[in-house]
Amino acid sequence: MAPVIVQKDNLFPSGNKAIGMTITILPVEGLPLIHAGDNLPALIAGLCTLEDGDIVTIASSVYSKSKGYTRRLSDIMPSERAQRIAAMTHEDPRFLQSILDASEDVILEYPFILSEVAGGHIGVRAGVDQSNIEDGLVILLPPDPMNAADEVRNALKRITGKNTGVIITDTCGRAFRRGQTGNAIGWSGMPAIRDFRGDKDLFGHVLKITEEAVVDEIAGIANFVMGESNNGVPAVLLRGCGRWTGHDDLYFHAEEDFIRKALGQKGTGREK
Ligand code: GDP
Ligand code: MN
Ligand code: MN
Repeated sequence: MAPVIVQKDNLFPSGNKAIGMTITILPVEGLPLIHAGDNLPALIAGLCTLEDGDIVTIASSVYSKSKGYTRRLSDIMPSERAQRIAAMTHEDPRFLQSILDASEDVILEYPFILSEVAGGHIGVRAGVDQSNIEDGLVILLPPDPMNAADEVRNALKRITGKNTGVIITDTCGRAFRRGQTGNAIGWSGMPAIRDFRGDKDLFGHVLKITEEAVVDEIAGIANFVMGESNNGVPAVLLRGCGRWTGHDDLYFHAEEDFIRKALGQKGTGREK
């Protein structure tokens, strides 16, 4: 795939915004099928030329495979709960058990398990995947995705000498709209959120609310270039995103998460 170039016009050159940006998006092509023990940063570094300030996005599925965060369904004994959910969803109870095991807190059981995983991400089926892995195996999300992003970033620095940002992505469903998009599961070398609060709009109004989840936006375009099926591109490089200021508080705290409150915490908690 040829690099995708995104250009933004320098229309309003003031404030906390990306002005006159040319962002180059480079798919990392030629990676093999990844298995436990593979040195993913070295493989990626061998297939592209990194520059300081580049953002390297990596599909969580492939990071997890390289670390062996996978499970064999035939090793899993489904609990009563997994079997009860299976009777409703018609899924393999062992697959459901792998999801329950990966969940810190189950928010919905039906029509699909929706749960919070370690680190605060909330995902359909806890982000457990049955695709892009051999039959009978499932891929788990990395158990500490922020640490995963730090580790890849440090490894890329050791190998190439370059200072890059790293985002570990996953394809996620979302509320209210059909269609999945890429989300950032872990990130390193940049704040998750660009904070516009306190900036003035075109009419001088002070923005009170707007915080832009930049890492998710970058994960979205990276996910678009990766594709979902057999493209074989689990890593994408973005050059020219610039820098932004903000913070890392991406996940709502319990008291401000009104949608989760409205779903009604039934106290299903950590029961497996
Ligand atoms: P997820 O979004 O993290 O769940 O990952 P996907 O399963 O959607 O895969 C994202 C991209 O990585 C797709 O282009 C897949 O074809 C590709 N991919 C998945 N596993 C591998 C692998 O082991 N090797 C290579 N080269 N590509 C892979
Ligand atoms: Mn996934
Ligand atoms: Mn995907």
